[in-house]
Amino acid sequence: MYKKLFIPGPTHVRERILEAQTALMIGHRSQEYSNLQGAIRPKLQKLFYTEQPVFLIASSGTGVMEGSIRQAVQQRGLVTICGAFSQRWYNLAVANGLPVDHVSVEWGKGITPEIVDEALSKGDYDTLTVTFNETSTGVMNPLKDIAALVREKYPDVVILVDAVSGFAGAKVEFDAWDLDVVLASSQKALAMPPGLSVVAVSERMLKRAASTKNRGFYFDFQRALKYYKRDQTPATPAVSLIQALNAQLDDILAEGLDNRWARHQEMADTVRAWARQYFDLFSDARFLSNTVTTIKNTRGINVAELNKELGRRGATISNGYGSQLRERTFRIAHMGDLTVADIQWLLGEINDILGLE
Ligand SMILES: *Cc1c(COP(=O)(O)O)cnc(C)c1O
Repeated sequence: MYKKLFIPGPTHVRERILEAQTALMIGHRSQEYSNLQGAIRPKLQKLFYTEQPVFLIASSGTGVMEGSIRQAVQQRGLVTICGAFSQRWYNLAVANGLPVDHVSVEWGKGITPEIVDEALSKGDYDTLTVTFNETSTGVMNPLKDIAALVREKYPDVVILVDAVSGFAGAKVEFDAWDLDVVLASSQKALAMPPGLSVVAVSERMLKRAASTKNRGFYFDFQRALKYYKRDQTPATPAVSLIQALNAQLDDILAEGLDNRWARHQEMADTVRAWARQYFDLFSDARFLSNTVTTIKNTRGINVAELNKELGRRGATISNGYGSQLRERTFRIAHMGDLTVADIQWLLGEINDILGLE
């Protein structure tokens, strides 16, 4: 039995999108492929609110994170950490031998412009990483305000944004906020199968990357740009996923971006109201995520058991992240192509299982 996915990735994928993946194969150096990528290009730019290039890369998001930080850091990078995924930027940098520092807040708290300002003022940094939506805690960081601060006081710092679990579920205005790298993968709020990443790259970042030694090969933005100009990719693209992306972008734009953000807001509001009524929210109320909610297990329920019973009824949610938060919290994702009705159905089932009224 299919269990509808209320987890923060992979997310529920509609049949039409699964079917779009089964279109007949085409050669990636053919005109047909270039036409496909060319059709996707402006639609994807709309979703990123940008006129900059948006590259398609056959990789999960982590690969693009690694490629981005490798191309960005020449002097020293600053990583902001508020949970497990933002920590990943630091681990990636260290694994690549890059000089980075980090500034951390307690899990459940958000990264504020003040925290970023204080940390950046202490060193000669050229790179900042921000995790737009911290999936382990359900925090959506105030990216717009952070970017405004950086652009005003540290104009040469490039801002790398992991938007994996927020992109396509909440507005990120790449050009207006003057960001440098925003990356996302297909299996979160884009509501597609995993395996494809999308990344918008600014002029500032392209320039930086051009002068970075040992910037790597597979994710090299300069190479990507060369091929992008003829609507191709340097290595073989994930053709099937790109066919699905084309269909998904049509549906996203048909829904309307503002409607999409409003639907996510409404789903988030629904889960929060329920959580406040029966449990409590784990994260700082100022920075609650619009794509995933972390709920404090104030009733001491057995989350694993709850999920088993939900499975029998055709749904799955997430336990808390890692040994710190498992069973102490649980997470309900409300992203992608889920609807408010889906969320209401899920919450009704949970109430029924737990005997809540
Ligand atoms: C899922 C997730 C990732 C990892 O992305 P992959 O596509 O699995 O590599 C990174 N960051 C955040 C915030 C995520 O939610």
